Amino acid sequence: MKKHNFYAGPSILPQYTIDKTIEGIKEFAGTGLSILEISHRSKEFVACMNETMSLFKELLEVPAGYQILFLGGGASLQFAMVPMNLMNKKAAYLNTGVWASKAIKEAKLFGEVVEVASSKEKLFNYIPKNYTVPSDVDYFHITTNNTIYGTEIKKDPDVKVPLVADMSSDILSRPVDVSKYSIIYGGAQKNLAPAGVAFVIIKEDVLGKVTRPIPSMLDYRVHIKEESMFNTPPVFAIFAANQTLHWLKQLGGVKAIQKKNIEKAKILYDEIDRNKLFIPTISDPEDRSLMNICFVMAPEYKDLEQPFSDFAKSKGLLGIAGHRSVGGFRASTYNALPKESVEALVSAMKEFELKN
Ligand SMILES: *Cc1c(COP(=O)(O)O)cnc(C)c1O
Repeated sequence: MKKHNFYAGPSILPQYTIDKTIEGIKEFAGTGLSILEISHRSKEFVACMNETMSLFKELLEVPAGYQILFLGGGASLQFAMVPMNLMNKKAAYLNTGVWASKAIKEAKLFGEVVEVASSKEKLFNYIPKNYTVPSDVDYFHITTNNTIYGTEIKKDPDVKVPLVADMSSDILSRPVDVSKYSIIYGGAQKNLAPAGVAFVIIKEDVLGKVTRPIPSMLDYRVHIKEESMFNTPPVFAIFAANQTLHWLKQLGGVKAIQKKNIEKAKILYDEIDRNKLFIPTISDPEDRSLMNICFVMAPEYKDLEQPFSDFAKSKGLLGIAGHRSVGGFRASTYNALPKESVEALVSAMKEFELKN
């Protein structure tokens, strides 16, 4: 039976990426060696790294003055690297979920954190608006897509201080005005590659302003100077990311994928709104994520949760359980998820409604 992959991360990758990665494991770039066993300093891999960086820049239209890094440690290490490299005294954070809270916790190790707003009291089911970012902070940090709750900041905010964003789960899903940000980072395992690599887009002029000593491995300037080759980078994950970027470019880039993402999300949200068995957890359409679509059983059908879960599994719909901290259901509709998978989920929801 065909499987539909709705896992939140690691998550679905394009078939193109899987196929090209299998080829690369057998033989990489005509070297007679596997990508798994080749030196990161070989000219073939250096070329792959450089191409991956330039494709990333091209697809996101990254302006001059910015560098791309591919680092180990995931997005979670960036929670600490950002304040370590940018924070002198004070930074502002928007608290929109568990990942944002984890970023705040790390930042507090390096100085004062101003939480400008939080949606915690409502289980993070909306994006706070009308907050003020103090003008004396070293930067303002947001999480554009809240993977666990299914909210998303789809419009690049205008602020007067350096803006930093965790875009782990919506990078490359839509055009972004990179010039509004000083740093954009994320783990690659949601929309780009297998786990093991984090991407960082960084405006160079934001660096060098803190006085604390920074260990070399945690210093963005070291990684920029060494072009992400200060130590052994995650070679395999970068190779796979390269394939996904080629796939996205062939497809027409981020504008083209955004159109598909909007279309897929609409099909599913429309059904959640229509179907009497389910209710959406995010009510404001403006805040609804196009990448992680969350819903629960309507209160009067609460005991159908496990039966629906089993029914979905029997139809090959995998990974739709909500995050362990919120329950219910979450369908992740990342770039690589085909529209047919969303349609399969919607018809299962319809069929289940008719049966009950
Ligand atoms: C998954 C995720 C993370 C954590 O990423 P790791 O690479 O596992 O550290 C951080 N932020 C967001 C928004 C995520 O979705």
